[in-house]
This record gives sequence, structure tokens and C-alpha cells, in this order.
Amino acid sequence: MRVVVCGCGVVGASIAFFLARRGVDVTVIERAGVACAASGKSGGFLALDWCDGTPLAALARRSFALHADLAEEIPGHASYRRMTTYGGLGGEDIHGNSDTCALEWTSPHIKVSSRLGSTQTTAQVHPGAFTHALMQVAQTYGAKLRLAQATGLVRGGCGSRIRGVAIGSEVVEGDAIVIAMGPWSILASQWLPLPAVFGLKGHSLVFETGTKISPEALFLEYREADGTLLSPEFFPRPDGTTYVCAISSETPLPVNPADVAPEPGAIERLRALSGHVSPVLRESRILASQACFRPVTRDGLPLIGRIPGVPGAYVATGHSVWGILNAPATAEAMAELIVDGASRTVDLSPFDPGRMRPLDRAQMFKAGQ
Ligand SMILES: Cc1cc2nc3c(=O)[nH]c(=O)nc-3n(C[C@H](O)[C@H](O)[C@H](O)COP(=O)(O)OP(=O)(O)OC[C@H]3O[C@@H](n4cnc5c(N)ncnc54)[C@H](O)[C@@H]3O)c2cc1C
Repeated sequence: MRVVVCGCGVVGASIAFFLARRGVDVTVIERAGVACAASGKSGGFLALDWCDGTPLAALARRSFALHADLAEEIPGHASYRRMTTYGGLGGEDIHGNSDTCALEWTSPHIKVSSRLGSTQTTAQVHPGAFTHALMQVAQTYGAKLRLAQATGLVRGGCGSRIRGVAIGSEVVEGDAIVIAMGPWSILASQWLPLPAVFGLKGHSLVFETGTKISPEALFLEYREADGTLLSPEFFPRPDGTTYVCAISSETPLPVNPADVAPEPGAIERLRALSGHVSPVLRESRILASQACFRPVTRDGLPLIGRIPGVPGAYVATGHSVWGILNAPATAEAMAELIVDGASRTVDLSPFDPGRMRPLDRAQMFKAGQ
């Protein structure tokens, strides 16, 4: 069996890994670079039970366990770490006191009010390193990576059977195809009956902090001087950097993933916020100032499964804020669905792409406005 996966973010790379490990002939087509989008620019925070009580619970729990297994299995994948996670409040009008515990690297304007997770329930990976490592191991199992833009679906001569994916005038042959292009999956609605997928932009900074910030994640409710409420997240990483993200915006998705750039002023705000939260961050060198789009659907749940009416066509996208967490279990279940005909490890029915109407051309035009 030959499978063509479109997109090499964390979801596409994970699917390539789980398929190639089972001996499937996989080709991944990636337009702008492995992990060039959200999968290389997100937090990489993982939680066992933060999706409990939602349709994502089983997917998240299975994925949390798979991340620990993959950290053992993948040679050189050193970015996985279990960590304690705290929550709190921040802002110029906040002043911690002796009743509120503080982290040693935070300023007096931060009040740490709760422990949100323990080393049993929260962890992290470096999302870009994880995605690259999965794709590299997939390649050792025989998977191929093509740096090119997937431009269409190609069907067989006499009917609807899939022949492969077009990259310009060339065809990458496959018996099955998987759309895993994150928010750019909406572009595949021109070739396949897919429900809408949108992109929601977020901004982040990566600081060089060495060992000055202890290995604990922090989630804040933060009030800026003008009263605006933000929800910044802070993730110190094993490589001596600290990742900080906040400030979402509903700006249009550029057609080329390489053209994603921060909004004017957003990086300056995030830098000011970071410096206010921690003197260590105020003094640390900034290694990356970036933006990326997370893929979202109308009902907030991912699309994982068969594309109705097109035998051999599958989609896996729309993971929103939990794409790094949920990629492994998504991919494991997708490999089961494609190879065995049904997913065994996780029930994919809540994520059935057929639950929502596909976009028609008029809606596609509107979504692109
Ligand atoms: C600021 C921020 C922080 C986040 N933090 C976390 C977190 O802590 N934990 C967590 O679990 N999740 C987090 N997320 C969510 C997570 O990053 C995403 O859900 C996940 O990265 C989506 O992965 P993906 O593979 O679906 O899409 P993407 O990473 O967007 O990858 C899609 C790929 O498809 C490629 N592509 C596009 N068009 C084509 C084409 N025509 N042909 C071929 N390839 C194409 C793109 O170049 C890209 O590489 C965060 C998101 C944001 C924005």
C-alpha cells in the first residue's frame, strides 16, 4: 500500500511515522519546510487530563502515554520532560504577599495561586524537535519526504479511484492520501469535500535563559496597564530556552506558510509583558520572535478520518491548542484506519469529518476574505 501525506507538521510527521513503522510505503509532501508552521512555533505543553469531560479525553490520555513511549523509542529525542505546572495572576495592580507562593524567577507582580498539574499529569516536548525526530525516524523506516506544494488530487483513468497527489504537473502516486496541512487544509477543499478549517494566529518569543528559570510551566491571567486581559503561557525547556506565548488575532491566513509574520506591535507587547513577569526574561536575549496559526474547526473538534464520498481520501487536522499533545494518538488511530480499515486504540467517531457539511465554493471564497 502507498500513502501520500500532504503536510509535514506534527500531524503529518506523526502519521508518516506510524504508517512507515507498520511497513507502509509513505511519501510526505511539505510545501515550506518540516515543522515550519505551528508545529515548530508552539508551546509543546502536554497534559494527561486537561481534556477530561470533553470528546477529546481518550485521544489526549492515549497521546500523553504515547509521548512518554516515543521519548524512549526515538534516538536523540531529548526534548521530552515531565514538569509541574502552576497557574496564577499577573499585572501592574497585582502585588504578591507572604500568603501567595511565588516562583523564584517571577517578579512581585505575579501571584501563583494554584498547582495545575504534577509530573504525573503534565509534560513538554520541543515541538519542532519532536516533529523533525518523528519524520527522521519515519525516513529510516523508508518514508520519503518531498519538499513541494501539493496542488490537487489525481484520480485514476476510468472512475473515482485515487491515483495520487499532484505537485504541479507531476503525480506522486498513492492508493490513499491524507490531508494534514493544518489551517491550509482549507485549500484542499478545492479538490475534496472538506468541512471548513480556519487559522487562529498566536505570537511567541523564545528567550535564552540557561538555568535561571526552574523547569516548571506557568499559566497566567495577566492584566495589561490599559486593562486588557491576556493569558500568557511560560515553558522553560531542557535546551536552556524559555518559550512565552500570548496575544491571539483573527488575521487572514496567508496562502504560503512561509509568509506568516507577527502583527505590528504584538512582539513588543509580549516582550514588555515578559519583562514585567520576570526580571530573568527582561534581561535575557531573545532568540526568536514569531507567529503561527493553529488549525480550528467550527465545532472546536478536530477532523480525523475518512473524507465522505472519496474512497482512499483521509483528513487529520483542526487540533487547535492541542495539536502537539494529540498528534501521536491521532496518527496511531489513522494508521489503523488506513491499514486495518478501523481504528482500534481510540474511537474516532466524535471527529468524523462527515459530521459537518463540506465547504462549497462560495463559502470558500468567503472564508478566504
Ligand atoms: C501560539 C501557539 C501555541 C501552542 N501551544 C501548544 C501546546 O503547548 N501544546 C499543544 O498540544 N498544542 C499547542 N498548539 C497547537 C499546535 O501547535 C497545533 O495544533 C499543531 O502544531 C498543528 O499541527 P498540524 O500538523 O496540524 O499543522 P501545521 O503545523 O500548521 O502543519 C501544516 C503543514 O502543512 C504544510 N502545507 C501547507 N500547505 C501545503 C501544501 N499545499 N502542500 C504541502 N504542504 C503544505 C505547511 O507548510 C505546514 O508545514 C499551539 C498553537 C499556537 C498557535
